Amino acid sequence: MDKIKMTTPIVEMDGDEMTRILWKMIKDELICPYVDLKSEYYDLSLQKRNETDDQITIESANAAKKYGVAVKCATITPNAARMTEYNLKEMWKSPNGTIRAILDGTVFRAPIIVKGIEPYVRSWKKPITIARHAYGDVYKNAEMIIPGPGKAELVFTAEDGTETRTTVFDYPGPGVLQGMHNLNQSIESFAKSCFNYALDTKQDLWFACKDTISKKYDHTFKDIFQEIFDAQYREKFEAAGITYFYTLIDDAVARVMKSEGGFIWACKNYDGDVMSDMVSSAFGSLAMMTSVLVSPDGIYEYEAAHGTVQRHYYKYLKGEETSTNSVATIFAWTGALRKRGELDGIQELCAFADRLEQAVIRTIESGKMTKDLALITSLENVTVLNSGEFIKAVRETYEGLLSVA
Ligand code: NAP
Ligand code: MG
Repeated sequence: MDKIKMTTPIVEMDGDEMTRILWKMIKDELICPYVDLKSEYYDLSLQKRNETDDQITIESANAAKKYGVAVKCATITPNAARMTEYNLKEMWKSPNGTIRAILDGTVFRAPIIVKGIEPYVRSWKKPITIARHAYGDVYKNAEMIIPGPGKAELVFTAEDGTETRTTVFDYPGPGVLQGMHNLNQSIESFAKSCFNYALDTKQDLWFACKDTISKKYDHTFKDIFQEIFDAQYREKFEAAGITYFYTLIDDAVARVMKSEGGFIWACKNYDGDVMSDMVSSAFGSLAMMTSVLVSPDGIYEYEAAHGTVQRHYYKYLKGEETSTNSVATIFAWTGALRKRGELDGIQELCAFADRLEQAVIRTIESGKMTKDLALITSLENVTVLNSGEFIKAVRETYEGLLSVA
């Protein structure tokens, strides 16, 4: 059979440790036998980032901007231990952070649903997608330990020197203090990415924050979402048969728990950090989540939501058997190839991505899975496969789907 042809390359960002091992297996077994893969390859392994003073990360993000679609492997974010392990020149920043800053994107995470891995919340029938604003707030804060009595103020000095101030608190004794910021431009990008993604995936969009308590900060988020929706998206949403609604974060949490799922929940940075871990673990596993960074100008970067699975990698290096779940990484590839197919009008590429995802789901539903899933499945008579066997089993299922197609 002829391989599927591509016209535009996808940007391929390779990574570290166990996920790097899976990356190659996925390409060799599941992609390259069927697709005449066009990719512009960037090696984001920690060694390469160190060698290039992290320029490779910046180059890969710029390539994503140029071509529009990227697929990324999990990468190590260095800490003190990694400094020694890899003999690093510097404690390089998180590649995800660097790429996010360049693409100015929003991260959308959704669970991959299979029969036999039931959500812990009984009412959830469809995936819940968390859209996390990836800029500012507590992640770019300024903090102080207050040693004793005194007054804390917020002071803004305009470019012309004019000062605006407000009292935060008159401290009667020791305490703590924090300052946070955000930018209208970043909130606008966040809102647009969410509205576009809702249209793209034909799902309702919820946004929630705490505007009743934070009458300026959170209220600005609420207002920007509403203004952009009214001016640019209301009619498109009506035409697509989907809705946008705002509610308070505590009300949203209560509604989410009682919902059936099947919507996008847009969260401020901290809320998104916390809620995405809650939603993913309630749906089963971080290895069963898709994750895509979408920029306001429509650039897509697909990745797995989990890390490099270091513990498994060390076992692999010792020659021991591993049973690492490759589903999220396979779905990063199918997400990128499907998007490329959509943008370039290559129907077979989209169909390939759909079929490969089907093969993954059917393989698991037939009882063949990695150990992490075997521990939580409600299916009986499961076969626990090692990392390579699982990918080979997916290939077999895929071949089966091809022969009936
Ligand atoms: P991790 O790689 O997500 O793994 C944590 C644990 O979760 C694993 O030890 C494993 O549990 C389980 N797990 C995660 N993914 C799995 C999979 N695909 N299959 C089976 N089990 C899986 O997090 P980490 O060990 O804390 O971080 C390792 C490195 O990843 C760090 O250097 C961190 O900087 C990096 N990281 C990268 C990204 C990214 O690039 N997107 C995100 C997060 C972390 P068991 O050991 O119990 O089997
Ligand atoms: Mg988190």
